[in-house]
Amino acid sequence: ETIITAEKATKSYVTGSVTTHALRGVDLSIEKGSFTCIIGPSGHGKSTLMHLIGGLDRPNSGTITVAGRELSRLDNSSLARLRGEKIGFVFQFFNLLPGLTARENVETAMMLSGVPEKEQAPRALDMLSQVGLADKADARPNQLSGGQQQRVAIARALANNPEILLMDEPTGNLDSAAEAEVLEILFKLHRQGKTIIIVTHNSDIAARAQHIIRVKDGRIAP
Ligand code: ADP
Ligand code: ADP
Repeated sequence: ETIITAEKATKSYVTGSVTTHALRGVDLSIEKGSFTCIIGPSGHGKSTLMHLIGGLDRPNSGTITVAGRELSRLDNSSLARLRGEKIGFVFQFFNLLPGLTARENVETAMMLSGVPEKEQAPRALDMLSQVGLADKADARPNQLSGGQQQRVAIARALANNPEILLMDEPTGNLDSAAEAEVLEILFKLHRQGKTIIIVTHNSDIAARAQHIIRVKDGRIAP
C-alpha cells in the first residue's frame, strides 16, 4: 500500500532576480510502514522534497499525494489538518520551546488537534516514556542533553499518533552515543508500523534503511 507519491513535482525559489530550481521533476512512491532514507549532496533538493511531501510547502507543478489526499486540492487549513493528523516532523535543531518543560513541549502538538485538555498531560507522559524520558517530564530543554532534547522532539512528533514520521537530519547535531539512542527509537517505531522517512548524511542510518532515495541536481538519481 502506497502512502506517499510525487509525480513530476517541481519547486523553484525566486530571490530577487535569482531563480533556483530546487526540484526539477520528481517521481517517487513510498510504501506504508517502510523505512526510507533520502540522501544526496548539500543543496541538491533534499529538504525541499521533504517539505513538499510533508505539506509544509507546495510544488510549482506536479502532484503530491499523502494518505490518499492530493495536497494541491486542499486549502491551507485542510492541509494543516492533514499534517497535524498524519505526519510528525523532527528537525536537526530540535525546535523545542525553551520556556516549557519536556511535557509541555509535547503538549503543544496536541493543542491544535483537539485532544481534550484533561488527556494532554497523560498522553504527553506516555509519549515521553516511549522515548525513555518519563523521568525528565518536568525538565526544561537547557537541562537536557542534545540526545534527550531530540527524544523530546520525537515524543512531540508522536503526540497525535501520526502514520508518518518525517525527519530532516535528526542526528546531524548529536554525538555518536546520542545518535545511537535516537536510532534505536526510530527502529522501534518502524517495528511498531510507522512509516519513517529520514533526510540524512549519516551512512549508518542509510545502511539500515529499506529504501534509499538519492537526490541529485533536483532529481531522483537512479
Ligand atoms: P538540501 O536539503 O539537499 O541541502 P535544499 O532543498 O535545502 O537542499 O536546497 C536546494 C536548493 O534550493 C539550494 O540551492 C538552496 O539554496 C535553495 N533553497 C532552499 N530553500 C530555499 C528558500 N527558501 N529560498 C531560496 N532558495 C532556497
Ligand atoms: P539542510 O541542512 O537541511 O539542507 P538548509 O540549511 O539547506 O537545510 O535550509 C534550512 C532552511 O533554510 C530551510 O527551511 C530552507 O528552505 C531554507 N533555505 C535554504 N537555502 C536557502 C536560501 N538560499 N535562501 C533562503 N532560504 C534558504
